[in-house]
Amino acid sequence: MIIILKPGASPETVEELLAKIAALDLKPLHMPGVERTVLGAIGDERQLERLHLDSHPQVERVTRVLSPYKLVSREVHSEDSVVHVGNAAFGGGTFSVFAGPCAVESAEQMRATAEAVRAGGGHGLRGGAFKPRTSPYSFQGLGLEGLKILRDISRETGLPCVTEVVEVTDVEAVAEHADAFQVGARNMQNFRLLQSIGQSGKPVILKRGMAATLEDLLLAAEYIVAEGNKNVLLCERGIRTFERATRNTLDLSAVPYLKMHSHLPVLVDPSHGTGVRELVTPMACAAAACGADGLLIEVHHDPANALSDGAQSLFPDQFLGLMKQVAAFVKTGGRSLAT
Ligand code: PEP
Ligand code: MN
Repeated sequence: MIIILKPGASPETVEELLAKIAALDLKPLHMPGVERTVLGAIGDERQLERLHLDSHPQVERVTRVLSPYKLVSREVHSEDSVVHVGNAAFGGGTFSVFAGPCAVESAEQMRATAEAVRAGGGHGLRGGAFKPRTSPYSFQGLGLEGLKILRDISRETGLPCVTEVVEVTDVEAVAEHADAFQVGARNMQNFRLLQSIGQSGKPVILKRGMAATLEDLLLAAEYIVAEGNKNVLLCERGIRTFERATRNTLDLSAVPYLKMHSHLPVLVDPSHGTGVRELVTPMACAAAACGADGLLIEVHHDPANALSDGAQSLFPDQFLGLMKQVAAFVKTGGRSLAT
């Protein structure tokens, strides 16, 4: 960390700050100049956050050298992490696809859709039981009943399952029935929820908030890993921009950026990223080509009658087509499609 003092900062301030840096077991540097003094701190500068140097009256500017996140960063852990969800794996060269409806609606709907996912070569099942809907008048999900349907169909088909958790009080139930948590875009910065998931140890797909920067996403992941849960998968699902032709703007540059700065696997959800079923397969291929470790896809056995996100849900034969087309792009991205 570089600390630039204001012109005329007193020698006492210099001494005080150097002592504070040393007291935190960092190596202090003193660089007196003609017009102003610059101080440095060598070591894990994140320790210095608690000194609140930015607000010291004689400090002009503080420049951080390291990223604000640590446990999720490549600086600390250079190897790719591999995260297992049931018998599926993401990362370290393995590419997997989890697919299913936006929401669990009934056992019949989940069974028919899960069969389409399995027939298409999907590796896992998705389906929301607790739905965080933008409108209070939209279908809110079946709750615990939906969770049990998802678990039963997951067992029947042998596809591991992921489902969204929206409240701390539901973490235990979701951990009991599902193979992985999903934290949705609307909850990416629900820090108490992230900590609670961190304590549970189950894998988690952490979706990027619709107005979140990549640094925000990595800091949200840091909350989970800091509680001891290393099984985090980052998921790009599009951000809000001025563009209205698509539901969101899928930021695929997030994929190589996140891979460069973090060891965690990176997934892409082109269903929420575009909101248009015809755009899902091309963007899934693009995501695979730029190095994603997996996909999250909405599929419904009967999209016209889906209770949520029907317009972006693939028909079963479209999912089959996606899996066939994506294979070549997975190779381009340097990954192998899980068997
Ligand atoms: C979902 O996966 O159905 C969902 C609600 O996603 P997001 O949080 O990305 O909007
Ligand atoms: Mn959805």
